[in-house]
Amino acid sequence: MRVFKMRKEDLREYLESLKKVGELWAPVRKGDKFVYDKIDDVDKVELKALRTILPPKKFFIPQRNTVLKYRLNNEYADPVEEVPFRILFGLHPCDINGLLILDRIYLERFPDPLYKKRRENTAIIGLSCVPDEKCLGKSTNTHYVEEGFDIALTDLDDKYLVWVSSSLGDDLVRYRIDLFDENITEDDMKQYVSWRNWRDSQYKLYYDLTGMPDIMVLSWDSPLWEELADDCLSCGMCSMVCPTCPCYNVKDITELSSDEGERIRYWDSCMYREFALVAGGHNFREARAERIKLWYTHKLKSFGHEFGKPACVGCGRCIDTCPADINVARVIKALKGEEVKV
Ligand code: SF4
Ligand code: SF4
Repeated sequence: MRVFKMRKEDLREYLESLKKVGELWAPVRKGDKFVYDKIDDVDKVELKALRTILPPKKFFIPQRNTVLKYRLNNEYADPVEEVPFRILFGLHPCDINGLLILDRIYLERFPDPLYKKRRENTAIIGLSCVPDEKCLGKSTNTHYVEEGFDIALTDLDDKYLVWVSSSLGDDLVRYRIDLFDENITEDDMKQYVSWRNWRDSQYKLYYDLTGMPDIMVLSWDSPLWEELADDCLSCGMCSMVCPTCPCYNVKDITELSSDEGERIRYWDSCMYREFALVAGGHNFREARAERIKLWYTHKLKSFGHEFGKPACVGCGRCIDTCPADINVARVIKALKGEEVKV
């Protein structure tokens, strides 16, 4: 890891330069929310953006994509997908941690070539953020990043500290080295430490998640799941917006007028009633309460057992999105025996 610093007024020029290297994507305003969009005008980049509606998983697992083309005589071909070199700017630490979780799922045991190609063709530039009342990254210990990015910027008052963590990041810095200063002083480091202390003090939501997997096990038969099921609409929005929800469905679509077809993959949610419905009509999770329990077991217990950390990165999107006010903060509080006001 190398550290540089950059004057705040130079960021605009740097982003302009990056547009010549690849497609630049960054958060922009959409009404009172934010979305990642392709940037033509760098003045539209929202440097103070809070969480985007959809997380950056949309760049690596598109909401719908073709995984296979086939003919009815058993011929098939992998789709040719052109992935332009992209630079994703402005990812917050929680979202970078979310990508690290997707990497574990999509690159380790059964590597997904489409995900791998998209990941390899994308540079990640992180940007520090200040939490709002829905962020719980400090609870999930995902409010800082040490890996998973090429460059990460920490917004200090008058400058950015620029952390470079890959050779691609190094190339992107050297491309406009005239905008970077390698001379990090003791004052810079003191300013950084004081920023960390101030920023950590800004979290309004904090939960001690020690022992959460055990609490999940002990709560298996809790009436909480039925109470939540009474409110839940099974709309699946929580899965769509969660940066670590990786599930998809697969469907073959054959053109009636020809012998050709394609196999598509598209986002799915274990909150949907049909998710665990199998041939013959048996549904392993017919009850809504069972589906909610599965979702939260995955976030707060199962992933931790397999990968050593929870699958919630504290982005607050489920808090922002669920129309029934069901979210990870409410569930953690209820499981820990606190009274929850809905
Ligand atoms: S928990 Fe909320 S967002 Fe998720 S399916 Fe139920 S109502 Fe929809
Ligand atoms: S469970 Fe909620 S807060 Fe946690 S990562 Fe998913 S959307 Fe974000």
